[in-house]
Amino acid sequence: MPGDPSSASRRAAAQQLSGLRAAGVTRIASRAPKKTTADPGKKATPATEPPSAAAGCSAPASLFDAQRSTVPRAEREEKLRILAARVAPCTRCSELAATRTQTVFGVGDPEARMMFVGEAPGADEDRQGEPFVGAAGQLLNRILEACHLKRTEIYICNILRCRPPGNRTPAPEEAANCREYLDGQIAIVDPDYIVCLGSVAAKNLLGSMESIGKMRGRFFNYGRAKVVCTYHPAYLLRNPAAKKDVWADMKFLMRELGVDL
Ligand code: URA
Repeated sequence: MPGDPSSASRRAAAQQLSGLRAAGVTRIASRAPKKTTADPGKKATPATEPPSAAAGCSAPASLFDAQRSTVPRAEREEKLRILAARVAPCTRCSELAATRTQTVFGVGDPEARMMFVGEAPGADEDRQGEPFVGAAGQLLNRILEACHLKRTEIYICNILRCRPPGNRTPAPEEAANCREYLDGQIAIVDPDYIVCLGSVAAKNLLGSMESIGKMRGRFFNYGRAKVVCTYHPAYLLRNPAAKKDVWADMKFLMRELGVDL
């Protein structure tokens, strides 16, 4: 029955399974042990449970193994290519499919330890087919440089793979439609760390209702990955005073990796 939550969740589960198959996932691994991450400089904050159906999130916590994937680079590249080929003709969101120039899948190292997740492509990304190539992308590049990270050694994607007209906020159904693709990319790249850029990324990925301000400064878990949430570079362009907060968030993350900035 349309609108029936159980039929919607069955449909979401079926979509998710087909995406996982397309992404080459043939085995659902056991759930990673619950972790508590403490930052020596901060009061210990319990990491959240991996998102579950209870959090309204479509990804099962069991999606990711406790150990990093050993799939070779060439195989990951091929899986990403296959998934991108499925995304390119996607018409799940009729308005987005009708208004986009092209889908914007993701870019970077298929074996990246760190993945950055933004909101949705803007006009520049829609034109060029690559995430974060406009003004916000230039600022992201500077943030990465300051962290001694190269764009080519991380992986970048978005909650949505199509530009919402006028850069409006993604609708919840659009994020749900695109979730299978995001989870496919996460499963293939299997990063150790995910950085959510902005509240749309943070809330959607983690199924959280908290404000981005409250989500900063601690680690969450998403399957095997530790997740850090910070402000979106586009927000920084409008509110340069918040740059120091993003810098603090990146230092927090890099310290975890053993890099003191
Ligand atoms: N903003 C985003 O969230 N993603 C992009 O790819 C570009 C701008």
